Amino acid sequence: MSVLIRESPYPMVSIADATAMIMERAQPLGSEEIDALSALGRVLANDITAPEDIPDVPKSAMDGYALRAGDGLAPRHVVGELTAGGLSTVTLGPGEATRIMTGAPMPPGADAMIPVEMTEERDGMLYIQHELKPGDYVHMVGQDVARGQTVLTAGTTIGAPEIGILATLGITRITAYRRPRVAVLATGDEVVEPSKSRPGGAVRDSNRYALMAAVREAGCEPISLGIARDDVEVQRQAILRGLAQADVLITSGGVSMGTRDLIKPLLAELGTVHFGRIAFKPGKPTTFATVEGKLVFGLPGFPVSSLVSFEVFVRPALRALQGDARPFRPQVTVTLGQPVRPSPDRPEYQRIVVSYQEGKLVAVTTGSQNSSRLLSLRGANGLLLVPAGDTIYPAGSTLPALLTGPLIGEGTAS
Ligand code: AMP
Ligand code: MG
Repeated sequence: MSVLIRESPYPMVSIADATAMIMERAQPLGSEEIDALSALGRVLANDITAPEDIPDVPKSAMDGYALRAGDGLAPRHVVGELTAGGLSTVTLGPGEATRIMTGAPMPPGADAMIPVEMTEERDGMLYIQHELKPGDYVHMVGQDVARGQTVLTAGTTIGAPEIGILATLGITRITAYRRPRVAVLATGDEVVEPSKSRPGGAVRDSNRYALMAAVREAGCEPISLGIARDDVEVQRQAILRGLAQADVLITSGGVSMGTRDLIKPLLAELGTVHFGRIAFKPGKPTTFATVEGKLVFGLPGFPVSSLVSFEVFVRPALRALQGDARPFRPQVTVTLGQPVRPSPDRPEYQRIVVSYQEGKLVAVTTGSQNSSRLLSLRGANGLLLVPAGDTIYPAGSTLPALLTGPLIGEGTAS
């Protein structure tokens, strides 16, 4: 009996080649001026140079007395008190000191200060037992930020410290890369809205909602295109509607070998399909096309395949489109906390929980890796890169992994 093998017409590409084909087409979309102090999560399009020194005048680093180091250990006359805010009104002469609080500008004539804990004051005189050098306990001009210094570079994602840096320099407007708009389309006659009643055999549309959340998490604006039936005309119209509104289109389902898998031929008709199959598990039929310069990702319908393919292939592109200088997740080496069985024919990205234990990153998988089992993504903070093969990796051996979420620590705060 002969076995008929029906092969996909799309050649199988490697993960590395697929990534290269995507990333060479994922150039930043352009930039816009935005409010700096609410720019959390945005990516800077320009370097930021400090317009001024911080501090702008020498200031006291502690509460104590401003004095002249050259007076040595001699007692000083206390001539006043300086607090933070406003420039000094006192000028110190030889043999004089003034009380000064943290952050107050140093008075002219003083070149050092001494913390109050190291002094005694009696009858208007200051007594010290420590020799001081000029500059001691003084917060020098430009010590924190020097005027003209590059404080932030293009491609940096704005987080809390960056907002603080911009605020301290009085920079309230910045140029940031534009956020990509990403349209997400679910396909399938069996797919229904989660809020509607579910006829027997139908599945609720988890992919569109999970993908839109992942799009948002990647710093982009998701646009929902709803659910398209498995009909060429309906799907063609939905794809065109998405491309008209968005910079990137993601579809879910309809990329396999079934008679109702219509996405690949539609994308080939509308644009160029760069690849339609990847040697990758979960997500072999993942498809990448461009239509009028816009990136289109045809992700598989199985919920795990669609989210993992998003993580591995789409997310780096979305980060690159918004100018992120580091679009990829960090890759680390993990020690297996349990044996891991590879897939015989394809490299597999297994979902794992990575924790830091006794100086090592230890990975345990999230249980059954079936591509319909969304629970295999729950709590996962990494993807274990398991090469194709027949040999089981024993517990204690090491493999590379992508960190996709925060590391789980060894213990609680103590
Ligand atoms: P497909 O790639 O269209 O053949 O779909 C593969 C599997 O994924 C089928 O079992 C579908 O029912 C399921 N599936 C497709 N689209 C979705 C979706 N939007 N949400 C959840 N499951 C889906
Ligand atoms: Mg389908």
